[in-house]
Amino acid sequence: MKLTDIMGQEHIISLLTASLESGRISHAYLFFGPEGTGKTTTAMLFAMALNCERKGEDKDLPCGICSSCKRMKNFNYPDFQVIEPSGLSIKIDQIREVQREIGLKSYEGGWRIFLIKDAETMTIEAGNSLLKVLEEPTDGCVLILISHNYLEMLETIRSRCQLMEFRKMPSPVLEELLIEKYSCSPERALLLSGLADGAIGRALHLNEDDGFFSLREKVLNLLSDHMNPDILKALNFYEELEDSKDKDKSREVVLDILDIMKTWYRDLVVYSYCGDTLLLINQDRKYNIIEEAKVYSIDRLQEMIQKIDEVRYGIERAKGANLPLAIDRIFMELFSEKLGH
Ligand SMILES: [Zn+2]
Repeated sequence: MKLTDIMGQEHIISLLTASLESGRISHAYLFFGPEGTGKTTTAMLFAMALNCERKGEDKDLPCGICSSCKRMKNFNYPDFQVIEPSGLSIKIDQIREVQREIGLKSYEGGWRIFLIKDAETMTIEAGNSLLKVLEEPTDGCVLILISHNYLEMLETIRSRCQLMEFRKMPSPVLEELLIEKYSCSPERALLLSGLADGAIGRALHLNEDDGFFSLREKVLNLLSDHMNPDILKALNFYEELEDSKDKDKSREVVLDILDIMKTWYRDLVVYSYCGDTLLLINQDRKYNIIEEAKVYSIDRLQEMIQKIDEVRYGIERAKGANLPLAIDRIFMELFSEKLGH
């Protein structure tokens, strides 16, 4: 894969390829924007391109096959370091290590590259330590920070980076791409683009994830049956899932459940407002949505969406979150009128 294969972010790719050609490389970049828009992939490709052995001969970088590209791709290149949260945050020790490393000279004679993922998770101490690195840039070193929540970062850090904003694609563009490049049927493309909310990485990930679609079936079956709500099934939902799922993935599964719930109530709001089924994400469920929309007021639907967001926020930020309890709570909340209180 080359930088120019990144789709939907032409404004960024042309800047990066121009700076590779001119050799004017910033000492720090901040790639920010929603999840699934290609930030990490672009950062990897840019890092590879910086040290690609074909640089200068080839314009379409990275080549992907030279020794440098191969070793970077396998994270087996001494001048390329990836820093990720340890637990839920990036700690000061990790940034101190960067500070120490950055003073060393390049092993391979090329660029030394530090890729910091989920940069918004840096603790205040880690952030202040990074700030010192940014205030005194070292020649031959490039820092690439990645964040899907960059407003949570220190303003002083943001202002010292070259900002690169990754954007979602308009739905019709993403749909067309899924049909043409990934052989999706038009129905599948419409559903994927709605579920992924314009983020191509998420759409492609979902396209390969059969588990997600069976989970979606289960969640929507429960939510759509307003005449005969199966509370017991809802309360056993998580336990039943866990038997068949990899435990390490529980958190991811719970976040998926919440996202699926949100698309459902979002569709009910959209339909209640304008009565247009073409705007729904869950196209294959439009008859259920028309029926269910009669049951709730728009205010109540907005409130449910807010509850889902609150639970999601809590789970994302607390490592020890009680996942079964979170799912029980949200089902109880969503079913409260059905339960008669
Ligand atoms: Zn190469």
